[in-house]
Amino acid sequence: MLLTDDQQALRELASRFARERLAPGYQRREREAGIDRALCREMGRLGLVGVDLPQEFGGMGLSGVTTGLLIEDIAYGDFNVSYVQLLASLMGTILARNAAIELAQVWVPKLVAGEAIVALGLTEPRGGSDAAHLALKASRDGDHYVLRGEKASISFSDQADAIVLFARTGTAGSGAGGVTAFLVPLALPGVQRTRYDDVGSRLVGRGSIFFDDVRVPADHRVGAEGRGFTQVMQGFDYSRVLIALQCIAAAQASIDETWAYVKERRTFGLPLAQYQGVSFPLVEFETQLAAARQLCYHALELRDAGRPHTAEAAMVKWFGPKTAFDAIHQCLLTFGHYGWSMDLPHQQRLRDVMGLEIGDGTAQVMKLIVARERVGRLAVQYARQEPA
Ligand SMILES: Cc1cc2nc3c(=O)[nH]c(=O)nc-3n(C[C@H](O)[C@H](O)[C@H](O)COP(=O)(O)OP(=O)(O)OC[C@H]3O[C@@H](n4cnc5c(N)ncnc54)[C@H](O)[C@@H]3O)c2cc1C
Repeated sequence: MLLTDDQQALRELASRFARERLAPGYQRREREAGIDRALCREMGRLGLVGVDLPQEFGGMGLSGVTTGLLIEDIAYGDFNVSYVQLLASLMGTILARNAAIELAQVWVPKLVAGEAIVALGLTEPRGGSDAAHLALKASRDGDHYVLRGEKASISFSDQADAIVLFARTGTAGSGAGGVTAFLVPLALPGVQRTRYDDVGSRLVGRGSIFFDDVRVPADHRVGAEGRGFTQVMQGFDYSRVLIALQCIAAAQASIDETWAYVKERRTFGLPLAQYQGVSFPLVEFETQLAAARQLCYHALELRDAGRPHTAEAAMVKWFGPKTAFDAIHQCLLTFGHYGWSMDLPHQQRLRDVMGLEIGDGTAQVMKLIVARERVGRLAVQYARQEPA
């Protein structure tokens, strides 16, 4: 893909920041309790967060392609820090497009400045794949809604300043049409949070958020009643591509480090790079990563042109993280016994990338989406469930 001068300039800035400021602390940051908010604000000041968000809310109004380039660069340095860019773009877009302007004016500029983290609240204890079947209840009470229930598996659960969550305002059996979105500041009375003991992405953290009769002003509703599900699904077409790019970037970092290693490490009197049994797998994975990356940018170009890209986004969301995981695994093996050490970053990248084989929708669900795009709802016709 050929970059414009502006894209090239942003890329150079992001890439330098990622390699000099982020990469050296990738493993140390995993052991810290949470993300350094000063680092987030610094990225905000440098214009490295929410570049796609509208100028009226402090963003630069840049394209999805440019946002993808930026996220790729940040994730190359620190996969987990790039969750900040991911969530700012996803949640900022949902808020800018659907929230009341007064609400968007409060929260979107904070996202762009790196001053706030807004989590996404879709999954519940009973499941994430069948997201339309959610149960958290929102009942209207005068000029408020009252929230009762639990959101599970929420990234940044104990760090986020607010959450855009999806709640049932319709009857128990109302399906996707009975779901409404709300922005909920997490300092409100009645909110409780936990953190799970996760395999990876420990800097981000994941956990449950409980809402015990939490009163949210009615003007914090995001979009019309019953429109929440459609809104988040449109956002997912975007975030799925950005997630694939995060994973591809992490794998590329491992591949680059492995190429450097195989030039130096010698066995049987020769550098490892001389053995095609070593170099060919690296070439094969780099080829697959390059193909996945191109499909990501194709999907983003379609999005920027206002054209459908649901199938392409679902394709890269399963193919990108899986290819990245397999590539990093190969890199770890190529480092021999050194690779099997917590001192090297490959094991952490493996764990971190694996999380996004699940988060935002599993490979099976992505394949169902592609099949649905091809043959219609026949591909996803399920038994109807008992009311929540
Ligand atoms: C790192 C990480 C971050 C996350 N962050 C967030 C977040 O910020 N906000 C949020 O709301 N959620 C988040 N999640 C939750 C995530 O979106 C869900 O875990 C995911 O959608 C899957 O839901 P589930 O875990 O309930 O699995 P289930 O829905 O119970 O599925 C279990 C398994 O069965 C398979 N399966 C289910 N149905 C079918 C079917 N019809 N056909 C074939 N296979 C099927 C699935 O692919 C999966 O392998 C995160 C998860 C992870 C791991």
